[in-house]
Amino acid sequence: ARRWDHEVDVLVVGSGAGAMASAVFAADRGARVLIVEKSALYGGTSATSGGGVWIPASDSALEQGQSDTPDEAFTYIKELVGNTVADSRIRAFVENARVMKRRIEALSDLRFTAIPYTDYQAEKAGGKMGYRSHACNTIHADELSEEDFATLRTTHRSAMLFGKIPWTIMESAPMITRGPGWKGTMARVLWRYYGDVGQRLKSSRSRFIVFGSAIAAHLKNALNRKGGELWLNASLIELVRGENGPVEGAVIERGGRQLRVRARKGVILGAGGFERNQSMRDRYLPGDSSTAFSASQENNTGDAIMAGIRIGAATDLMDEAWWAPTVRVPGEDTARPLFYERALPGCIIVNQAGERYMNEARSYDVAGKAMIDADRADARTIPSWIVFDARFRRKYPMGPVIPLLPDILQSRGARKAWRKASTIRSLGRKIGVDSEKLANTIDRVNRFARTGVDEDFGRGSAPYDRYYGDQSVTPNPNLAPIEEAPFYALQVFPGDIGTKGGLATDAAARVLDASGEPISGLYAIGNTAASVMGPSYPGAGSTLAPAMTFGMLAVDDMLGVP
Ligand code: FAD
Repeated sequence: ARRWDHEVDVLVVGSGAGAMASAVFAADRGARVLIVEKSALYGGTSATSGGGVWIPASDSALEQGQSDTPDEAFTYIKELVGNTVADSRIRAFVENARVMKRRIEALSDLRFTAIPYTDYQAEKAGGKMGYRSHACNTIHADELSEEDFATLRTTHRSAMLFGKIPWTIMESAPMITRGPGWKGTMARVLWRYYGDVGQRLKSSRSRFIVFGSAIAAHLKNALNRKGGELWLNASLIELVRGENGPVEGAVIERGGRQLRVRARKGVILGAGGFERNQSMRDRYLPGDSSTAFSASQENNTGDAIMAGIRIGAATDLMDEAWWAPTVRVPGEDTARPLFYERALPGCIIVNQAGERYMNEARSYDVAGKAMIDADRADARTIPSWIVFDARFRRKYPMGPVIPLLPDILQSRGARKAWRKASTIRSLGRKIGVDSEKLANTIDRVNRFARTGVDEDFGRGSAPYDRYYGDQSVTPNPNLAPIEEAPFYALQVFPGDIGTKGGLATDAAARVLDASGEPISGLYAIGNTAASVMGPSYPGAGSTLAPAMTFGMLAVDDMLGVP
């Protein structure tokens, strides 16, 4: 018999939302559970995220009078993914996401509320104008142990006001788009932060925990209550599998030692994608691609995907990512995704020839992919430039650039990142694009802004475009002239918020081998698995919801359906 250093029933690798949810589900069933997390913080990129969770036909949506069914969601996903994903997996997701919601709410203090957030391709069959994306409840540091607060990964700076003040999703939308009541909302958000005087004297970190960080915090509390264990600074090195037999455990590096951990019931791989591994990006992703374009945290280097491949697992969708145009700010360790800025009126994205090449207001995955697809030797789009004027600059956020504040009070990073000039032509010269062409492009867009019709790319024509439009701007809330000096430009890259290719799995999250047979004892979820969303991004929360849902299904498969 092999010697093991440690034995559990269920070994979970990684501590993103899906991984932690599966650990809670398993611990609740009486299983001895261990999470191993590579970094010194738990929560993964999930904890840095906006925490949106896309759950079709949830009880929360139905209670709010919305009509939706798993069938409609199936139709919608199918419309977007074609034949790139097995129907059985899509079915498993649309039927079980809402079951996952109810069950995790029963086991933790986590609550998900359906919000009026438009599906990214709502115009497609089965698409909805809202109430599939869910926001989670917040949590205060006082509800966590001191250690759990200290080791909780925090929200990405791009998802906080001024890069440091947490807000909820329903607070952020009116503030970004200057919607009704934005001033009162702003006052409340600022007061919540600056009014916490004791904490402000100690740290800039807020004790008000929101978004994905709140999901991680709630799940950590639930895991503690159920007796699950979490090791930080503990990395998966190898999976242990007998000759064509089941996966029996894994080799984990912890404190400079390699430990053999036995998993009697199975191993769940939830260790994220490979977005921070340059050689895997070079090998698998299209276009010029750099880890520096990614908004994900640094630990997702594809370790679990590679460990799976080494013991015979098949992969799928390895050339896909959750694309997002990103900007890089000097001094910051991850890129900042431009989730909504592109949709606001008075900015455009141009290639290095000074031409527009897309509807900038499309969802971030469509826009990010367009940046890769449109790249040509005579008109490079990697990187591109996002150009805006003084009026935009005063009124709306743009990456690190904060509205209302004068230029001189902007962060040093923002001032280093932008190029600024008093005329369009001199801006063109500063960013190295054909000034004449840039000026013509802007004249043309300014004409579209007055007529309200983007004759080239239809900006403002799709429902999701308008979600982040400024409704006070007419005739098209996504278009305004770029005409007030000074003019600004920021470099934009085809980045990502995680990769989406990974180990091939079935409807129970079981990892498949090259012949399509499940490898007994091995499950993969989140970005370690090839996504159930294929090459698409149906709506906000399309990464976290499947991770948590397949986490639940993996546990049910391993331990039997409760
Ligand atoms: P992660 O959450 O990254 O977890 C993986 C964990 O595994 C990490 O903690 C990592 O340290 C650990 N790990 C890696 N290697 C090892 C190893 N060898 N051993 C042990 N542990 C290891 N998605 C949504 O659905 N909704 C949103 O609102 C949303 N907003 C976002 C906002 C931002 C700013 C960003 C950056 C992303 C957002 N996303 C959102 C995307 C989402 O965060 C990711 O797709 C998702 O978190 C991936 O989950 P995961 O569990 O696969 O990986």
